[in-house]
Amino acid sequence: MPRPITATIHTAALHNNLARVRQSVPDAKVWAVVKANAYGHGIERVFEGLRGADGFALLDLAEAERVRHLGWRGPILLLEGVFEPRDLELCSRLGLWHAVHCDEQIDMLAAHKTQVPHRVFLKMNSGMNRLGFAPERYRAAWARLNALPQVDEISFMTHFSDADGPRGIAHQMAAFNAAAQDLPGERSLSNSAATLRHAQDAGVRADWVRAGIVVYGSAPDFPEHNASHWGLQPTMTLSTRLIATQQLQAGDTVGYGSRFTADGPLTIGIAACGYADGYPRHCDTGTPVLVNGVRTRLVGRVSMDMVTVDLTPLQQAGVDVGFGSEVTLWGRASNGVALSIDEVAQAAGTVGYELMCALAQRVPVVVDGVA
Ligand SMILES: *Cc1c(COP(=O)(O)O)cnc(C)c1O
Repeated sequence: MPRPITATIHTAALHNNLARVRQSVPDAKVWAVVKANAYGHGIERVFEGLRGADGFALLDLAEAERVRHLGWRGPILLLEGVFEPRDLELCSRLGLWHAVHCDEQIDMLAAHKTQVPHRVFLKMNSGMNRLGFAPERYRAAWARLNALPQVDEISFMTHFSDADGPRGIAHQMAAFNAAAQDLPGERSLSNSAATLRHAQDAGVRADWVRAGIVVYGSAPDFPEHNASHWGLQPTMTLSTRLIATQQLQAGDTVGYGSRFTADGPLTIGIAACGYADGYPRHCDTGTPVLVNGVRTRLVGRVSMDMVTVDLTPLQQAGVDVGFGSEVTLWGRASNGVALSIDEVAQAAGTVGYELMCALAQRVPVVVDGVA
């Protein structure tokens, strides 16, 4: 028997979340962002759930090949564009659309020999200060691209730094519009947070939204809003089983560094999941967890292969618990109760994105209960 830990990908939840995005932006096209191996879920595993998208956006050329290999003939966008000249050959061969965010990428295009002119997304740095042309250099970059025979249609994109928070997007919208207003072509501005929070504005919706975390059922603006507020469902469940229980007395401690001390008699369960599975070691006593679908808490430090959980709430509820009981680290328990990955991430001082992406190789993954 392998260890009892499993990650389950939920196709129906991916459908639901994509439908939620469409509801927010009914007149826009939707890129399903599947970078980082579909946020740790596995591109092949989410494909069925997300094939209703208008296109797939990602960064890695090998991942783009995988999407084509799945039979996808529609648009694929390389969000960071190409990294070296020969990447353009793959773009020509696979019909990949690519971002152009710097002069070096225009140089590569100008030197590229191709029969097939490329569709490109010219990126503006409207305030994020990672990738893109500064607003005052944007039109010159467009003019240069527009003059290249290697380039077909030019679209326009930028990326928001604060769509999930109080600063908002107005300052970046102003910068983008001032420089790009009258340039002809499609536009793509919004990530998940902007799609949910700011897309009442047609200029923000634009022609394409880039929906990442939202399709994986995590709230982009947690804790201001949670997943249920936005009508999102968890697309990944990380579950395991209890492999032991211990009976503690007042003064007994739990785990490395004796981080937790019982103040009275206490039954704890030992679950087969640790930081080597991708469960964050920063989660401390109090982090929520479900045992047999009943909400309880971690006690003591996360080990490499195990976590320890308080079984008091189950005993109080009269729920049978012991060796083999189901433990849900995030996602949905067998009884239907959900534990948001966002809550677990918050307990670890991070975001749901990081937990999904960090799911370890050693964890077996199944789609809808099928290996
Ligand atoms: C990752 C990424 C997105 C998706 O972001 P979410 O917050 O997950 O929706 C959108 N646009 C670009 C350029 C990205 O790199």
